[in-house]
Amino acid sequence: MTDVQPHPRSLLRPRVILPQVQDITPAFLDTHGLKGLLLDLDNTLIPYRSYDDHLETVRWASDLRAGGYALYLLSNATKERARIWTERLGFQGVGLAGKPFRREYRRGLASVGLPAHQVAMVGDQLFTDVLGGNLSGMFTIMVQPISDNALPHTRLTRRLERLVLKRYGFDWSGKKPLETPPTR
Ligand SMILES: [Mg+2]
Repeated sequence: MTDVQPHPRSLLRPRVILPQVQDITPAFLDTHGLKGLLLDLDNTLIPYRSYDDHLETVRWASDLRAGGYALYLLSNATKERARIWTERLGFQGVGLAGKPFRREYRRGLASVGLPAHQVAMVGDQLFTDVLGGNLSGMFTIMVQPISDNALPHTRLTRRLERLVLKRYGFDWSGKKPLETPPTR
């Protein structure tokens, strides 16, 4: 990969879009030279507001950690919700992260002990997860939201996201699996 620094006009462009977080495999990480992930919680790892067991996700996370990859939770949810899920997932992280502002991204990178270019920010939202990750010089992975919460402001955000993604050449209806993104 040659493009290290994001172009100023590309701050909202995810480097990769994947259908779900479990598509991030050791092979994928190695291909992109990644050694760690900062992970959004709601609609990325776990359905919005859910406290149900999500054993598949917990297993995915523990497999990656066993493989030597560093994981860290970067959530805008409440501290209490973030605490409960970091406990269940078995790695560190924070709530009220204030994404897209860079402060907690920096602290997350410090916590995993890796340089920004070896860490991907993974999230379902362009204007928080992806924007902050790009501002922080990280690789950015957008995943399709697990559940579609019907809050009016979320619906507007989703529409704006689709407009932006379309400009970047991603064909995303928000419902069907995503097209492979263009390489540039
Ligand atoms: Mg989210």
